[in-house]
Amino acid sequence: YYNNQTIIYHKGEFLKPEAATSSLYSQSLHYGNGVFEGIRSYKTEAGTKIFKAKAHYERLKYGAKVMGIPFNYSIKELTAITHELLERNQLEDAYIRPIISTGANMGLYTSKESILTMQCWAWGKLMGDKLLRVKTSSFERPNPKSCFVEAKVTGHYINSILSTNEAKDAGFDEALLLDMYGNVAECSGANIFMEKDGKLFTPKKGSIMAGITRSTILEICKEEGIPVEERHFKLDELKQADSSFFTGTAAEVVGLKSLDDYEFPLQWTDSLGHKLMKLYQQEVLGQRKNKLSKAL
Ligand code: PMP
Repeated sequence: YYNNQTIIYHKGEFLKPEAATSSLYSQSLHYGNGVFEGIRSYKTEAGTKIFKAKAHYERLKYGAKVMGIPFNYSIKELTAITHELLERNQLEDAYIRPIISTGANMGLYTSKESILTMQCWAWGKLMGDKLLRVKTSSFERPNPKSCFVEAKVTGHYINSILSTNEAKDAGFDEALLLDMYGNVAECSGANIFMEKDGKLFTPKKGSIMAGITRSTILEICKEEGIPVEERHFKLDELKQADSSFFTGTAAEVVGLKSLDDYEFPLQWTDSLGHKLMKLYQQEVLGQRKNKLSKAL
């Protein structure tokens, strides 16, 4: 993630990672009280583009609000810091990780000291390019009444780590988690879509991360005339689907080979997921044609 040229942003300054200091009494370290984002920038014909910066920083702001963490920057300032960070690291195609951590406080009431750190690095697709072998997790997604599931809170990722460890230790690539009602929810760090008879389905919001890639895919489907529906479905329905894929900023669009012992029968290259993977690549580079919004 870093080398001896890397520059990070921390407590209002651009500096080398080893020059940054952080309290060992931080509530983020002890209790997981911090909020973060995962953003990508792309090298486009029109220069470096931070994909959906506003949506990502709005989600960071929402997370800070629900956790009671002071949010001391405007979205415009955060975007400007991101651009400067990319320039200082001479990166165009990059993954950007802003995190707002909390200051020294061993109590459980949110510390009012809020610290912004931003890092960036070159990162390929998080889950790689090959089709994924996925395992249904024995862990459920957190109950939406026990936390704010749509906030990217650092502590929530313990559930993602437990499910990923379980899947990888059993020889799979990734984990699929159900919600507390037994509905298919999402992967540890990405949303899920399934294809059945030429139509796509993705779980409704409620127990899942409101993924920005998920919304982008829904918009692309609308604009390209690809039928898609947001509704709950169970594991047995997913195990009768023709094809399935995950979406996320870090993962982008990635197809599934199998779920437990079920192999998705449709060839990935013949699936709507594959078509959307291509359209998503065009979208992030600002190259997608047939935009209804452009035609209107
Ligand atoms: N689900 C979870 C649990 C995630 O951590 C992420 C990554 N933020 C996603 C889905 C995908 O969200 P996005 O498309 O906004 O990256």
